[in-house]
Amino acid sequence: MTSCGKAENPILCARGCGFFGTPSNHNLCSQCYKAFLKEEEEAKNATILSEKVSSFTIDDCVTTEKVGSTMKIKQRCTICKQKVGLIGFSCKCGGIFCRVHRLPEEHACTFDFKSTGRVTLAKENPLCKADKLAFRI
Ligand SMILES: [Zn+2]
Ligand SMILES: [Zn+2]
Ligand SMILES: [Zn+2]
Repeated sequence: MTSCGKAENPILCARGCGFFGTPSNHNLCSQCYKAFLKEEEEAKNATILSEKVSSFTIDDCVTTEKVGSTMKIKQRCTICKQKVGLIGFSCKCGGIFCRVHRLPEEHACTFDFKSTGRVTLAKENPLCKADKLAFRI
């Protein structure tokens, strides 16, 4: 469609779209060349991004990924024993909970959120936590 009166040696677009290509555009027509440039740029950006991501997030992502994968496993709520399946919420105290019981105060959470990540206070005995939860079932 592009008006091009002085097509010296017409080449068909290398992408076979039916238009004529230009040697200076890798034998692509103007449409395909635009697309080609865009793709190249996106590819570059994608590589840069993925490189950045992979080098930056290895440590930070571990915790979130763990939570995500736990949610896919079919589980029952530790408190009410309802099947939680896809909506199961895992808590830092080690339990899996339904929507209702996911909040720390709803399942008598033994995990001390307040002291975590800020000040490392003496935590409750970790062995006790596990025991309490196991016996609740
Ligand atoms: Zn083309
Ligand atoms: Zn529940
Ligand atoms: Zn908890």
